[in-house]
Amino acid sequence: MSFHIAFKRIHIIIFSISFLILFTAKQVFEEKTFINLPNNFFSKKVALTFDDGPHPYYTEKIIDILSKYNIKATFFLVGKQIEKYPKIFKLLLDNKNYKIGNHTYSHKNLTKLSSLEIYNELFKAQNLMFSLGDNNQNIISYFRPPGGHYDYKVTQIAEKIGLKMVLWSVFTNDHLENITKKDLLDSIDKLCVGDKEIILLHSGSQATLDALEDIIKLLKNKGYIFVNVDEILNETDFSS
Ligand SMILES: [Zn+2]
Repeated sequence: MSFHIAFKRIHIIIFSISFLILFTAKQVFEEKTFINLPNNFFSKKVALTFDDGPHPYYTEKIIDILSKYNIKATFFLVGKQIEKYPKIFKLLLDNKNYKIGNHTYSHKNLTKLSSLEIYNELFKAQNLMFSLGDNNQNIISYFRPPGGHYDYKVTQIAEKIGLKMVLWSVFTNDHLENITKKDLLDSIDKLCVGDKEIILLHSGSQATLDALEDIIKLLKNKGYIFVNVDEILNETDFSS
């Protein structure tokens, strides 16, 4: 055997071993990595959240637009509003695309209240939501404090009731009176850049209603898929 042929054989052996290693590694990678992960694990996710409802007209119009695009969303509702508009509450509760969170009973700044008052604000709203529906699986164990005001006392009392706090990652200012559709779209475009975003919107805002279809299109173009807030919270901490 000449030196040249032996050298060629070594090459073939090395090539075969490399191929075998790569092939095995690929199989292991596929088996270990892909079998146990949900389809959308690597997708960018966004949760649209609507506070302060239910509202007549606005909440129903929001539902119409979300339904048109089959979009998931989360509503942080106020107990007093639920008492006034129980039918709209039921519309949200009975839709599999929506999750419902607690935004207190009367939308007060929780940091200005006594422990008992904080407890009542959270417990009364949670109790009301559970008492009105037969299908309670869309009610999540999360609350959002009105105005984003919270302190240690608030979170401790909430924890006793079994509620975790959720804030947001994208603040749109859609509650301001003279905000325009363009302002809203620009701020969402600028601020929505991460892999997981929670957008704060309000159910009674005309600008939000006017912009909602374009917000959905913008986020789709940016590569986001729409999820409920708890799906993002299971993966990331948005409580501070
Ligand atoms: Zn609010």
